[in-house]
Amino acid sequence: MKVSDNLRVLQQKVIEACQRSNRNPEEIKIIAVTKYVTTERAIEAVECGVMNLGENRDEGLLEKWSKLGDKPIWHFIGTLQTRKVKNIIDKVDYIHSLDRESLAKEINARAGEKAISCFVQVNVSGEESKHGLTPEMVIPFIKELEKFPKVRVEGLMTMAPFTEDQTIIRECFQILKKLQLEIQHIQLPYAPCQELSMGMSNDFEIAIEEGATMIRIGTALVGE
Ligand SMILES: *Cc1c(COP(=O)(O)O)cnc(C)c1O
Repeated sequence: MKVSDNLRVLQQKVIEACQRSNRNPEEIKIIAVTKYVTTERAIEAVECGVMNLGENRDEGLLEKWSKLGDKPIWHFIGTLQTRKVKNIIDKVDYIHSLDRESLAKEINARAGEKAISCFVQVNVSGEESKHGLTPEMVIPFIKELEKFPKVRVEGLMTMAPFTEDQTIIRECFQILKKLQLEIQHIQLPYAPCQELSMGMSNDFEIAIEEGATMIRIGTALVGE
């Protein structure tokens, strides 16, 4: 399938999910997750107008970056080892996987003049295979980030649990939305928390209905 065909189908589903939830489709950014595919396929996505690309490993990001440079908006969506921060920090626009203080410290130390836009990753479902903070830990963690002036909390990120049960998936996204509102309420200047990064190929419609502003789509857009 051509990326352009997949994109058309995806955009239509985004519009319909927005209609069901009274949202403006312009609030939703599609991130093409290119981790499974070649650089050529990533270029095809950019040529279709998908300007947000997501990678989950530093090797994949650097390989694609060497061809595409800073033309796309780059999202680092995978578990980030502290020692790898220096490899990607000047190439990415967003880090979606901030989940511990040692990582915040390293991002802060390696950042240039500009603060780095981060998402705090939350493990809502408590699945052991998933990274992220428990919901209870999120607000105390964000308060601690005050000491890292180069770390800016643009939003929260989660991955829904591995299940067919749509009710469980929906509850996961609702919990993230509620947490976002609580963080906005405390009005920390470094944590505007305007964004919610949630929803993948199998669950993005539910995520949009529950408030996602960035959906991370691999399989359904660029392929496996
Ligand atoms: C791989 C990945 C995605 C995309 O997954 P698909 O199901 O292929 O859409 C989204 N988010 C993260 C964090 C991923 O690792």
